[in-house]
This record gives sequence, structure tokens and C-alpha cells, in this order.
Amino acid sequence: MKTVPRVLVVEDEPAIAELVAVNLRHNGFQPIWAEDGEAAQRELDAVLPDVILLDWMLPGQSGLALARKWRGTARTKAIPILMLTARGDEPDKVAGLDAGADDYITKPFSTQELLARIRAVLRRRAPEQATEAVTIGELTLDAGTHRVHWRGQPVKVGPTEFKLLAHLMKHPERVHSRAQLLDKVWGDHVFIEERTVDVHVKRLREALGEAGAMVETVRGAGYRLTAQPQAALKAG
Ligand code: CA
Repeated sequence: MKTVPRVLVVEDEPAIAELVAVNLRHNGFQPIWAEDGEAAQRELDAVLPDVILLDWMLPGQSGLALARKWRGTARTKAIPILMLTARGDEPDKVAGLDAGADDYITKPFSTQELLARIRAVLRRRAPEQATEAVTIGELTLDAGTHRVHWRGQPVKVGPTEFKLLAHLMKHPERVHSRAQLLDKVWGDHVFIEERTVDVHVKRLREALGEAGAMVETVRGAGYRLTAQPQAALKAG
């Protein structure tokens, strides 16, 4: 299962929205179109996107006012906002960034530029969604292809276990409490008990087989992924 980043496109001009949506879809993103601030708010109340593409000039509330509002709201404040503006002059850009936008892009823009900016804000804001491969010892996880390998052999891991492993591998040797793992891996969409973490750690270890020893329990503290587990791995 591959994670497709959701992009909320807030744009009142259907032709531009359509063009952007088509390009996003072709490049591995899931676009959601909202034609104004009200429609965008409904989308945000339902499911949080990974990034918001926000047009500056909108009917009703302006993009600037919306950026300021979403930045000031706990639920939405961490979502990267990329502003689209037809005006390229400096004061507007500064106003956009002051309002909390992460970046801006001036119309007309090329698809490649738009995609590059989206990927950049996603990388900066959400390291969990990086697409690079991580290798710890002989265990490799590729977030781009959603594959895990142990000593060159593919390992089948469920979607939640994959996210859990990705987080642990990106911060190896560090101890993560159950609460931290819930926050980073499960996010704020659902309320889950801490023992759920234990269940998924158990499943992850089972899926990893021999490499499961790399996921260590730190008594009274949580879990950590280590290249040198206490329970030694057999030489491969
Ligand atoms: Ca517009």
C-alpha cells in the first residue's frame, strides 16, 4: 500500500483547478478541489490534507485571510500552505508568508515548478513522508516504493506496521514512548489506546522475523530500533 499525499486545491477558477488536479493525479498526489474558503473548510473538517494549495484571490474570504485562520487553528496549523498568486510583487509575497504560508508560487507557473514546490514543503513539514530509502544495519525501508528488505529479501509488512517501522528507522537508537509513537505514527485523526502500540509492535516483530530483534522494548520507557540488538542476530 502506497501513501498518496492529499492536496487540497482551493481555487475558484475551474480551468486552473482542473489543470492542477490532472497534473497532481498524474504525479502521485490525490487532489481535492474546493472553490472557496467555505468549501475548503468543509474538507478540512472532514479529513486533513497533507498540503493546501491556496489561491490568493478568492470569492468571499481571501487566501490571505484563510491562511491566517488555518495557521491559528490547532487542527490545521501544521498543514503546509502553498499560496498561488497572480501578483508577483514583493509586498504580496511577504504578506503571504507573514500570514503563515510556507511558500508561494506566481501564476502562470509550470507543472514542474508546482510539483517541486509541493514536494519541498512536504519534505520540510513532514519528514515522515520523505520518499528516500533508509537502511539500518541490513534492514532497508523504502518509503517511495513502500517496500522493506532484510538482507536483500523482501519482507511483507502491514500498512500500520510500515508507518511504525518507518518512524523508528528514521530515528534509530532513540527511545520512543507509546504516546510519542501514537502521535507520530497514528496522528491526530483517531483516538487510540496506548496498548494498541504494543499490538502493532508485536505484529511488526513477527513480520520482520529474525530482524524483529532490532525493535527493542525499553522497560518503562517505550521502544527503540537499534542496529545492534541485545539479542544478537545470527551472522548472515
Ligand atoms: Ca482566483
